Formats: sequence, structure tokens, C-alpha cells
Amino acid sequence: MRPFILFFCFAASLLIACEPTAGEPASPGAVQAIFPKGQKGPAELFTGNAYNYGLVPMDSTYTTLVGNVYFEPGARSNWHTHPAGQILIITDGVGYHQIEGQPRETLRKGDVVQCPPNVKHWHGASEETGLQQLYIVPNTEKGVVNWMEPVTDEVYTAQ
Ligand code: MN
Repeated sequence: MRPFILFFCFAASLLIACEPTAGEPASPGAVQAIFPKGQKGPAELFTGNAYNYGLVPMDSTYTTLVGNVYFEPGARSNWHTHPAGQILIITDGVGYHQIEGQPRETLRKGDVVQCPPNVKHWHGASEETGLQQLYIVPNTEKGVVNWMEPVTDEVYTAQ
């Protein structure tokens, strides 16, 4: 009798141990990924952890650069411009985009952002939730990006 009871308790404990895993919510700030995470962006250009995964390389046929950036919560780019502009397509998470002199905009899944040529801006994740963004840089023969100073915490958190 005793071995049977022990076995029953063991089996029950396994069920209890397994159950929370099946219905476990995603960790706070986690977002869905379509593409591999890619390579971490350098600290000189990004605050926090941002990862770039290239999808279409620059070449003379398409003259268009396409890739995905995953920003962890709190991560953002430095201020920068694109000589020929940039298009962002948000595929998951919550983030921000700000053009210098304008209010910060909140970005969510399905949003499309057009950053005009030579307009100073930054983009990144929100404080609590990461951001998945596809970027498209057209006319790469004009240049891709001109990097500037980091986005301070004061600017990042300003509504
Ligand atoms: Mn940009």
C-alpha cells in the first residue's frame, strides 16, 4: 500500500509542477518575434539593448536596406537622420518615435512611420514593453544614417 501512495503523490506533484508552465503568461515586456534576434547594437549608438537582423542587404540593384530591430524595454536609438528617409513597420510590442521639436509618439503593432529625409529623430521601446520594428531605408546611394548624440532619460520619458 505504501509504495502505491508514494507513487500517487509523486505523480500528483508532477502534475502540479507542470500545470503552471502550460498556461504561464509571457514574461513582462516580452514580445513576439518573426525574425531571429540578430546582433546587439553598439553602446555608442544605442541606449540599452537593441538587436539588428539584416533582411535585404544594400546593393546596386535594389538600393534599399531592409532589416528588423528588436528593442528591449527601455532601449532606444541615438538621435539620427537618414539622407533618403526611412520607413518603420511595427510588428509587435510598444515603443516611441520622436522627431526633434515634436511630441513623442507611441508606436504599436501595425503602425507604419515615415521618417522624412534629413529629419532628426529617434525610435525605441517603451519603458515596460519591448518593440519589434522592421526598417526600410530607400535610395541607399544617398547614404543610410548619420548618427548623433544619445537620447537622454529626460527626453525619453517626456510625454
Ligand atoms: Mn531612424
